[in-house]
Amino acid sequence: MTDYPKMLAPLDLGHVVLKNRVLMGSMHTGLEETRDWGRVAEFYAARASVGLMVTGGIAPNKEGAVAPDAAGMITDQDVANHRIVTDRVHAAGGRIAMQILHAGRYAFSPECVSASAVKSPISPFPPKELAAAGIEKQINDIAAAAARAKEAGYDGVEVMGSEGYFINQFLVTHTNKRDDEWGGSYENRMRVAIEAVKRARAAVGPDFIIIYRLSMIDLIPNGSTYDEVVQLAQEIEKAGASIINTGIGWHEARIPTIATSVPRAAFAWVTKKLMGKVGIPVITSNRINTPEVVEQVLADGCADMVSMARPLLADADFVTKAAAGKGEMIAPCIACNQACLDHTFGGKLTSCLVNPRACHELKLVVKPAAAVKSVAVVGAGPAGLSTAMTAAERGHRVVLFDKSKELGGQLNMAKQVPGKEEFHGLVDWFARSIDAAGIDVRLGVVAGVDDLKGFDEVIIATGVVPRDPGIPGQEGANVVSYIDVLTGAAVPGRRVAVIGAGGIGFDVAEYLVTGDSPTLDLPEWMREWGVTDPEAARGGLALEGPQPEAPEREVVLLQRKAKALGKGLGKTTGWIHRSALKMKKVEMVGGVNYEKIDADGLHVTSGEARENPRVIAVDTVVLCAGQESERSLADALEEIGVAVHVIGGADVAAELDAKRAINQGVRLAAAL
Ligand code: NAP
Ligand code: SF4
Repeated sequence: MTDYPKMLAPLDLGHVVLKNRVLMGSMHTGLEETRDWGRVAEFYAARASVGLMVTGGIAPNKEGAVAPDAAGMITDQDVANHRIVTDRVHAAGGRIAMQILHAGRYAFSPECVSASAVKSPISPFPPKELAAAGIEKQINDIAAAAARAKEAGYDGVEVMGSEGYFINQFLVTHTNKRDDEWGGSYENRMRVAIEAVKRARAAVGPDFIIIYRLSMIDLIPNGSTYDEVVQLAQEIEKAGASIINTGIGWHEARIPTIATSVPRAAFAWVTKKLMGKVGIPVITSNRINTPEVVEQVLADGCADMVSMARPLLADADFVTKAAAGKGEMIAPCIACNQACLDHTFGGKLTSCLVNPRACHELKLVVKPAAAVKSVAVVGAGPAGLSTAMTAAERGHRVVLFDKSKELGGQLNMAKQVPGKEEFHGLVDWFARSIDAAGIDVRLGVVAGVDDLKGFDEVIIATGVVPRDPGIPGQEGANVVSYIDVLTGAAVPGRRVAVIGAGGIGFDVAEYLVTGDSPTLDLPEWMREWGVTDPEAARGGLALEGPQPEAPEREVVLLQRKAKALGKGLGKTTGWIHRSALKMKKVEMVGGVNYEKIDADGLHVTSGEARENPRVIAVDTVVLCAGQESERSLADALEEIGVAVHVIGGADVAAELDAKRAINQGVRLAAAL
């Protein structure tokens, strides 16, 4: 008997039976754009244990491509390239559908087209309004791409109708200002969506999966009403779709939908509203990242199937492990976006913070070691943990030291921050994996030079120490470090100044202003961000707007740079941190000099000329002024001629994060 009977139950679509209820949702990994189709094939084949997977968005024509170099399904050569992928996936026992993505005004190109010439706030290019003939062409191109996908061996296609892309742009008056047969009434605005599915079905015949990705809750002004969503779903079913997949929020929505601070399965209730309204299976998605959550969502009747994307980056064997009763060994996606979406939007190939092998299946290979070595790893933060695990996986004998009594290093700090609860799961998974690998763990031990003699390899992952900002008065009782705050060793007063606005300064400010974490309380989180039932308000935007809880403290967040605070935060998540702090009335001040700290508070001046002296009257000052490498052990070993590998924060402290630490650790261990 499995722990996850609902997740592992087959889904009968009539002409085909999917082996379980997990869909790997579409991700723009950038792999298709490498044109290395063997590599693309390997990525998908490694994930063939899911019931069905969907490729990244593939353009049906030039004008619909998300970017000028984006992969398409337009030519015979495209068919041949994609055939490499489908053959490989089928040989691995999987099923795969190709997503047809017409980006409309989200296309990063001056050639972009849409229902009306309404520029998107997240693109520099105003779209050209299509004439009726142009609309017909777009629909026919979508149908032709479906036919080519079938020719290329795909099991189906997903017609992308959500997230604010082309089809979605026709559906709502926010972007469709037309008064011809493609605009005005809802019947007219739905026509592109319906025709796309109808013509795609006609092009591929009956025995081929067509998923329609439907925006259940737009989260933008003048979005669809709930009745419109249901009406569209029913029309899409009639048009010939096999499955409806849920889309949550347009890309330009100012409400987080997948970030780590979004509660788990936060939008499953929205999908549930569609259950029973259509006769075809319905898929839910967003912030579902463990088999337990999948099982619960299915048990609650929220959907027939669950879509996960990033969790399949974190662990390609998600389903296999769950089916083997090893669900607790699944590497958890912490929804950080740091190595996936931040890379995508930064023009870099996607990977995963937790699993640097994602999208590098053929490049970063972990093979059994040719000769077994004894390996000492000092430091059980992310760099040390990932090195130890990977080295042990290769068969090396590993001893892991840490002066602390618990594994995790700085991750233990992160997990204290409201909205970063997923870090608990990450630390726990590391601990279970280290245990299962039979690694000799020595906690509470300050490893010295003598402890490290006789090992074949010595890895120093001793991390970082806080930078000393050297502010006069910082030794006072009213000054504490972020470590004191996040470990609970110090309890700051009501009014706090936070010195340093990097990742940790932002985290500490969030910790200081937040009471109970809204991430663990869905109704509270919805109030905080102004999300409501789409039956109550168009697009699910609460009429009263965001209603955040009052801040727990008055916080001023400061930096010396004169630019806006938080510019260095994650590309896809920085805005969420900035908005969250603004909602909690955190004052953000840049361009200051820290003159001194005394009983009155923090004394600052502005700019190079040190003008405008003033006192920020606070009870506590928290230092978050960055990090420096802790290299004393590495230096001592090198001095007596012991060769060491220095990784993670001990190697480079500047802008260190878990992504770089884990990546460096895995790569080193793969080469030992
Ligand atoms: P950081 O990002 O390097 O930020 C350090 C902050 O301290 C900056 O705001 C800097 O601004 C200030 N600072 C630097 N030297 C100073 C000095 N001598 N006196 C006073 N202020 C000084 O470091 P961090 O915040 O400690 O974070 C460490 C790393 O952890 C980050 O780089 C980040 O990658 C990672 N992290 C990431 C996240 C995330 O959300 N992804 C969250 C937490 C931590 P000025 O120089 O302008 O004053
Ligand atoms: Fe998940 Fe972060 Fe990995 Fe992306 S980088 S898949 S969000 S853990």
